[in-house]
Amino acid sequence: MYSRILTHASVKPNNYTYPSLFKAFGSHQWLEEGKSLHVHVLKFLGSPIDKFIQASLVNFYSRCGKVGLARYIFNRIMEPDLATWNSMLSAYARNATFSLVDNIHGNTGFSLEVLSLFSFMQKSLLEPNEVSLVALITACADIGALSQACQLFRQLARRDAFCFNAMIRGLAIHGRGNEALGLFRKMIREGFAPDDTTILSVMNACSHVGLVEEGRKYFKSMKSVYRLEPKIEHYCCLVDLLGRAGLVEDAEEIVLSMPMKPNAILWRSLLGAARVHGNVDIGEIALRKLLELEPETSGSYVLLSNMYAFLNRWEDVNRLRSLMKRFGIDKTPGSSIVEVNGSMHEFLIGDRSHPKVKDIYSKLEEMNKKLQEFGHLPRTRDVLFDIEDEEREEALSYHSERLAISFALLESDACVPIRIIKNLRVCVDCHSCTKLFSKMYMREIIVRDRTRFHHFKNGTCSCLDYW
Ligand code: ZN
Ligand code: ZN
Repeated sequence: MYSRILTHASVKPNNYTYPSLFKAFGSHQWLEEGKSLHVHVLKFLGSPIDKFIQASLVNFYSRCGKVGLARYIFNRIMEPDLATWNSMLSAYARNATFSLVDNIHGNTGFSLEVLSLFSFMQKSLLEPNEVSLVALITACADIGALSQACQLFRQLARRDAFCFNAMIRGLAIHGRGNEALGLFRKMIREGFAPDDTTILSVMNACSHVGLVEEGRKYFKSMKSVYRLEPKIEHYCCLVDLLGRAGLVEDAEEIVLSMPMKPNAILWRSLLGAARVHGNVDIGEIALRKLLELEPETSGSYVLLSNMYAFLNRWEDVNRLRSLMKRFGIDKTPGSSIVEVNGSMHEFLIGDRSHPKVKDIYSKLEEMNKKLQEFGHLPRTRDVLFDIEDEEREEALSYHSERLAISFALLESDACVPIRIIKNLRVCVDCHSCTKLFSKMYMREIIVRDRTRFHHFKNGTCSCLDYW
């Protein structure tokens, strides 16, 4: 239709033609077609672009998952209306929803942007509706601000399946498995049909609270009850669930028999389970597959090496070490970001660049002394093998999250939880120390590492020491 308008020389597309075209392209996610239409808009109409066209562009890019482009257009709209706000907020929320099992670190920036957008929206005197609130619940859950999300959920006058999904997901990724399952049952009682993201959250919840049989049951129910086709994410979750419970062989069977090709996340999950439960045979198989898929990533070598170290197989540790050297593989430096009084501070391992470096390190000394009083023995055996032995124990206490905790203890309000985002997996020693920190300073510490959230409270962690 549109191409007919274009070829017909006497008819030029106008302000009324474009919005409906963008709408059609957006609902089919025809990104390339929409992009060339965007070019036409710029060519035929020139600037400034009509407000309705801008709004339809935001909606189009949002539906196609192009958050950056949607935001770029959005920023140029003088007074966006509620529908445009919601397109923008949903773009962020949609991006967050697909990252439950996969690397969740990358979306943190998104969530912070949504929250800043929201405060901006409040200033514009627009009243948010259900759509905006769902986006916000997702965003809050994503950055660990779960109490805000619960509050938003209670505020909702009319709840639909999307609201339930956002809230169940929020509870699940924060390890509040029983609450997530309770809410799921409520959702079913109220007559809403779950979709595949709901089931994913529910399985995740089961995984957190160790309800293996329940988790398997929900996985099976996808096909048999809800007529949903399990996606690779569901298989990832199932493998995680079985792995946590020590059913490493069952997990392997799932990976080997699933209908699609297992990805790196699945093999890594299996490798992680094999490591924790000391199943070297399966660990080696998983590692070989991982190296085929991601030869330059250091994480898998480190996981397997830690497993060998645990079994005192030092020759194998050395073999892996030289393999890494041969391939020229470097470890990604660990970094932790902590939010204190509204601003973000980043720390690297052994970082001395912060203006308050002196205070941070003397606080760290105090923390280490207290750890000893609590009878903590550093676990150096599991720590990355390429730190030289004599440096190991010292280096541990300078891991980026410890610097971040030290800084937050110094600078932040004693009644608010400490929120940290780490780009790598939390090491075993930092994990047990953070548990102790949460107890001895009576502070809730929330760490989001490469794969999951850890809520440290009164000496325990929500992951139940499996991560
Ligand atoms: Zn550490
Ligand atoms: Zn944990």
